[in-house]
Amino acid sequence: MVGNGRKVTTRCSNSETTDSPKKIGVLALQGGFREHIDILNKLGVEPVEVRSVEGLEGLSGLVVPGGESTTIGNLMVESGLLDGIRSFFYRGGAVWGTCAGMVLAGSAVMGRKQPLLGLMNALVERNGFGRQVRSFEKELEIGGFDKPFLGVFIRAPFFEDVGPGVEVLSKVDGRIVAARGENILVTAFHPELTDDVRFHEYFLQEVCGL
Ligand code: GLN
Repeated sequence: MVGNGRKVTTRCSNSETTDSPKKIGVLALQGGFREHIDILNKLGVEPVEVRSVEGLEGLSGLVVPGGESTTIGNLMVESGLLDGIRSFFYRGGAVWGTCAGMVLAGSAVMGRKQPLLGLMNALVERNGFGRQVRSFEKELEIGGFDKPFLGVFIRAPFFEDVGPGVEVLSKVDGRIVAARGENILVTAFHPELTDDVRFHEYFLQEVCGL
């Protein structure tokens, strides 16, 4: 269930008595990682700032935050995290990309070349809502949520097209703004800039399986 407000604590498989919080990484190379860390702290998991490949060890999931996708991509190449995050994902690690993180999760960006993780079979339109409409808010219907979610869009991308294995969770004017695959979630908007923790809960429970 999403939105039941329960804290996520799970028992270590090999421990006798201790419940230890699961570690969730937040990529901290550039952009809005602190807001995700604050929310994850409230939900009873242990957020970890990830700046190196070593930082991926022992994580149950990884958030790739909003920011500037070219800058984050270049820093991921320099740090080895582009390949590191791909390996983490293909070993089954859960990933959630918000905004620039959604751009990075895609397999191609319309009209330009930039480093991408390519974790989702999706064509990205970067800054897809136009130069004039740089920021806006909209109540969104989200597949699996019983009430609308306030989407905060800041120079947001959308997915132009998705391939098999991608489930669309929400659209704005026919444009895909939230989607998931087996161990990946993307949102074009910024749930970390609202008080509504349902997307963070959804990631922990439905994508990370905690
Ligand atoms: N437009 C930015 C990019 O494509 C993303 C903006 C954001 O993350 N708020 O990198």
